[in-house]
Amino acid sequence: MFVDAHTHFWKADGTTPYTWFFSEVRQDKYDWWIKHFRNVDVPEGGLEIDVDYKVVEKALRNDGVDRAVVFAMAIPGVQYVSNEYIAEGARESKDFFIGIASVNPHDPKADEQLEHALSSLQLKGLKLFPIIQHFRPDDFVLTDRLYKKCLDHNVPVVIHLAAEPAEMGGIDPLPFPAWSRSRLIYNQATYIDEVSYKYPDLKIVVAHANYGINVSEAAFLCARRPNVYVDLARFGDRYQYAEEIERIPPEYRDESLYCAYRAVGIDWVRRKFEEDFRTLLLYARPNRVIFGTDFMAISPKWYRQKIEELVKDEQIRRMIFEDNARKAYGI
Ligand SMILES: [Zn+2]
Repeated sequence: MFVDAHTHFWKADGTTPYTWFFSEVRQDKYDWWIKHFRNVDVPEGGLEIDVDYKVVEKALRNDGVDRAVVFAMAIPGVQYVSNEYIAEGARESKDFFIGIASVNPHDPKADEQLEHALSSLQLKGLKLFPIIQHFRPDDFVLTDRLYKKCLDHNVPVVIHLAAEPAEMGGIDPLPFPAWSRSRLIYNQATYIDEVSYKYPDLKIVVAHANYGINVSEAAFLCARRPNVYVDLARFGDRYQYAEEIERIPPEYRDESLYCAYRAVGIDWVRRKFEEDFRTLLLYARPNRVIFGTDFMAISPKWYRQKIEELVKDEQIRRMIFEDNARKAYGI
């Protein structure tokens, strides 16, 4: 079984245009890109319409994916994908999607919302975004009630750890991408370490393995705590864009990215990916690294192939593409 343990679908009314995945890429460029490179069957205005579970399931299955974990997003004023919407997709397509709830820890009713999501909506975990929800994972006054609820229900907490997608320093910047509200101070592996220390039985998935900032730190977090996993969502995105960008017509190409790739060269981008990936395997260990794409950021088929070029051992491949996700998400 091939599991993509990090994906998204969304309802247009809860998203902020221009901020999904690439804060620096304009709407028309984004539309062109998902249509041509992710085989996502959406009309013009990709962010202005619902990209629902059917569209995403079809695209993922075409890439060979058998099961997918999908996340709600409770990020006030930036991106909102409700627990109800994710639960609906997970219910309608229960052989495919495993739905994960999201709440905002600053919301006084967060624990009630989480209880409802896990009990009534049958969601299977909690996703938190400290960098954009502006809280420390080890601020236990805010978070204790949420971790305890995850423990009660025996489901994991997934904590976003990476700066993305907050880049806006490009040649072609937008006036105010909402993700620019993200704050690096909340993006610390050490705060998650405190959580895993206080709650040794709580399953924690560190989404994105802090790629682009400090992969070693995320890897060491896993190395010292048996209850912590990392997922590979977006981890290889620079590499895939580097391979794609030459094939994008100039009018749909992001010039700042293109310029960056010309500056460093695609060979270096590939080597950097390989080095980061091997750092994870070596320190986090293969039994903690979970495959995920952040679809539509990366194509599962492409990503799997690149990982298989680096990992020839069948047993280790199975850990990454199936077993670890099963353990973390109870699949
Ligand atoms: Zn994601």
